[in-house]
Amino acid sequence: MIKVLDKHVADKIAAGEVIDRPVSIIKELVENSLDAGAGTITVEIRNGGKSYIRVTDNGCGIAGEEVEIAFRRHATSKITVAEDLNAIHTLGFRGEALASICAVARVELVTKTLDAKAGRRVVLEGSNIIENSTIGCPDGTTITVRDLFYNVPARSKFMASDSAETRRIIDMVSRIALSYPDVKFTLINGNSTVFATAGKGNILNSIISIFGADIGKDLIPVEDSLNGFVIKGFVSSPSSSSPSRSKQIFCINGRVVSSDILEKALDEAYREKLFHGRFPIAFLFLALPPEKLDVNVHPTKREIRFDDPYEISDFVIRSVKSALTVKEAVPHITTENVNTKPVKLFVAPEQGVQETIVKSIPVEPPVSGTPSNYNVKKTLSSKRESENLSAGPEITKPLVRPFDFENLTILGALFNTYIVAYDEDSFYLIDQHAAHERVFYERLLEQYNSKEKLRQTLIIPLNFNVSKEVVSFESEWIDRIRSIGYDIDFFGNNTYLVREIPAFMDIDEAEAFLKDMFSTLEDKPDLTNTGILEKIITRSCKSAVKGGDSLSKNERDALMKDLKNCVNPFSCPHGRPTFIRMTRHEIEKLFKRV
Ligand code: ADP
Ligand code: MG
Repeated sequence: MIKVLDKHVADKIAAGEVIDRPVSIIKELVENSLDAGAGTITVEIRNGGKSYIRVTDNGCGIAGEEVEIAFRRHATSKITVAEDLNAIHTLGFRGEALASICAVARVELVTKTLDAKAGRRVVLEGSNIIENSTIGCPDGTTITVRDLFYNVPARSKFMASDSAETRRIIDMVSRIALSYPDVKFTLINGNSTVFATAGKGNILNSIISIFGADIGKDLIPVEDSLNGFVIKGFVSSPSSSSPSRSKQIFCINGRVVSSDILEKALDEAYREKLFHGRFPIAFLFLALPPEKLDVNVHPTKREIRFDDPYEISDFVIRSVKSALTVKEAVPHITTENVNTKPVKLFVAPEQGVQETIVKSIPVEPPVSGTPSNYNVKKTLSSKRESENLSAGPEITKPLVRPFDFENLTILGALFNTYIVAYDEDSFYLIDQHAAHERVFYERLLEQYNSKEKLRQTLIIPLNFNVSKEVVSFESEWIDRIRSIGYDIDFFGNNTYLVREIPAFMDIDEAEAFLKDMFSTLEDKPDLTNTGILEKIITRSCKSAVKGGDSLSKNERDALMKDLKNCVNPFSCPHGRPTFIRMTRHEIEKLFKRV
């Protein structure tokens, strides 16, 4: 039942202006439709939503005697007492949206509940009801919003161009549609359908309907749970990253959220796997016990506050990192990026998807979602354990397999540069130089972080001649170099003497590494900044490790063994791949066998 909240409850809600542009209206209306348990939601817009927005749903509808009160401020059917704010299960709860919308636009509401004989049509202008009549209509609700800000011209100035507002709307509706794969969403702009999802509960299919088949090809499923936290969804393999964060979608308990914490966690999970300026693609659905987060922070509810940000961040890092250990995360050559001629034989994107999704298998056990109000009610009534909270409806995922170094057969080396290997279904090239850099870097970090430094003493010490400037701020860098395992001392006359070097380096490497360090120190970098320090170290690793040497079989085997022990074996510290992989199927496609 829709009631106006008691003043003391209303006062506890983070208040604020909800409506600033067309997209905010659409967001509120679509959330209402979802809260109403709709299985089908159609959004239509014209002129970027400025002149016309219509949202139609087949949800529970509003009872005839409640339609007027629904437009009052703080009128909601979703919470009653202040305690309800601690565990919100619906998208709306402020009871402000309809009131705010009708204050700034011409609104028409047509609605019918399942058990009502007839529906109701209400027309409002500037918050005044100018019509309230019975009408024949299907079950559900249709809200039409025309001429946004017709009565507040000052605000219409702050809207962007029609096309920019349209882009915002497409972005937002896509995000919501993705987080509700059980709901059939259609977005219509003017006379054309922007996208339509099937509403059959398959997240991967929704991703493909909204973003196109290309994106679906290289996605790796993420699935994990811990202490009542559940995560599901997809992330891109490191080789198909994106130049912006626009394809990172986070959904928590059925709510699309923006969160620095989740973005940072994702970055951390991909650390050293991506080049600077590239971002992973991610569609992640989390379910957390409601008491672990506060959604009552911001009036549009996009921002949330976590009870324990470290807990959630660690959970996401762990889950995504472990998802990225599969074979499919090894950069993959496909027939699409190999130039096949004649052009006609170019592989259609759909086929690419089919290929990567070797077999579509449902995740076991299939789970129902929390997202819509309808499902939430079900969840509440069965008082399910928080472990059973699902992060979204059943998803179909591509089959992925763990990568196992033990299964590799090494054939030799190509051009003295690439190790050639294969396993039961894939062919690999391993860049010796990148691999060596990775191994070198991880050993260096290990040494840097451990108390015991494993060193070797040189018979003839190494000499380094540096500039006066470098000597002048010795106290800032010398201990860092010692931490790596060098025994280094000032010898006078701008010279440093190194008597011991880290055990894992050979003399040439040790020398090249320090040379590079010293040349970077000329610029007096801020070594207290760990980011800068790390950059210097990764750069110096690169100089230390030489490329192009032919390796003996034993050296090759040793390198592969070292690589196997790395935390991040698939990329060098700069994000370049150490491995590339081609599946047997791709090879067969190139030879036109399939
Ligand atoms: P809130 O969503 O915060 O409760 P709103 O102003 O968005 O507040 O909506 C007020 C009330 O109107 C809701 O609580 C709900 O009962 C009813 N309502 C709004 N939209 C719909 C809809 N599409 N279907 C059914 N009921 C709706
Ligand atoms: Mg609402």
